[in-house]
Amino acid sequence: MLHEKVLADGQKEQLETWLSAARRVVVTCHVGPDGDAVGSVTAMVGLLEKQGKEAVGVVPNVFPRNLYTASGADRLVVFEEDADRAQTLIAGADLVLCLDYNALHRTGDRMAVVMRACRAPRVMIDHHLEPEESDFSMLVSQPEMCSTCEVLLHVVSEMGWLPMLDADIASSIYLGMMTDTGAFSYASNRGEVFRCVALLLDRGIDKDRIYRNIFWGASDSRMRAMGYLLYVNMKLMKKLHTSIITMTNQEWRRFYLKTGDTEGFVNLPLQIEGIRLSIFLREDPDVPGKIRVSTRSVDDVPCNLLAQEYFNGGGHKNAAGGSLMCTMDEAVEHVKRSLQKFQDYLKNG
Ligand code: 5GP
Ligand code: MN
Repeated sequence: MLHEKVLADGQKEQLETWLSAARRVVVTCHVGPDGDAVGSVTAMVGLLEKQGKEAVGVVPNVFPRNLYTASGADRLVVFEEDADRAQTLIAGADLVLCLDYNALHRTGDRMAVVMRACRAPRVMIDHHLEPEESDFSMLVSQPEMCSTCEVLLHVVSEMGWLPMLDADIASSIYLGMMTDTGAFSYASNRGEVFRCVALLLDRGIDKDRIYRNIFWGASDSRMRAMGYLLYVNMKLMKKLHTSIITMTNQEWRRFYLKTGDTEGFVNLPLQIEGIRLSIFLREDPDVPGKIRVSTRSVDDVPCNLLAQEYFNGGGHKNAAGGSLMCTMDEAVEHVKRSLQKFQDYLKNG
């Protein structure tokens, strides 16, 4: 049913060899787990359990409440909250799967140390550009694919695991595909994406419900913060087709926000006519003096280049991020200067 292949010659056999020798398998994702991370980890844990493995998902830190609707999300071990247990699990693993990230440092400073020390093979399954090859024993890298969950579904198919794909596992995979594409509004022009969706629907997923679980049911705090940020803090630089939104820790507290409550805010200015690049700057609540940068763009505006050049980060062409060590005012000035240098990418189109 699927047309594309993701495993290179010999990878299926290698994975089978490692899996048959493994009793305890740990499945991990990047810091700040999003829908694709939680979706791929819960799906993979479910698939491994069906093969009789002692499989546990370990995520670096807390994730948004709405992602707990993924089956098995409540059994994930959060490194930040349960470091001893997470460390024991990783150190004792026979095989470690690395989903939705392309370099070990993306698991966060503390978890990355434990990951590096672990002697088990590390298998990366991911869709980010330019993986750090030396960090992994095997790489399944598909930057053309919309999400790690799409890559994972191809792995499932090629490994011959489709008979294990029940509605819960299929729902987790759909969750990741849906969230990484903004409900199929970007990064999803390939027919294969919809062959995946058709396959998942045939497994009994309720896609309308998954959509509601994720995108509706927001807290009133989130809605009020959204209104405030758009009304008060959004600055449009129309000649550069760019929007900048800032959010300080003080504003975060004022609206009683929780982890994940600002998810998707960065996309909103792209709904404005003529805006092709959106930048969201947020004070990091955990690291004083650090500003997290999120960027989103349309068409040929390469956010990843912008993030690499100016924000100490990287990512995909239309969704990237990074960070700056400075005050919010300095960050805004830095962004404005960077945009001037970047303007050739912004003006035509
Ligand atoms: P978000 O804006 O949702 O935090 O991140 C969007 C995308 O940008 C992520 O999927 C990831 O690919 C990339 N990204 C975000 N932060 C960083 C960072 O600090 N370093 C790198 N290399 N990529 C990042
Ligand atoms: Mn992803």
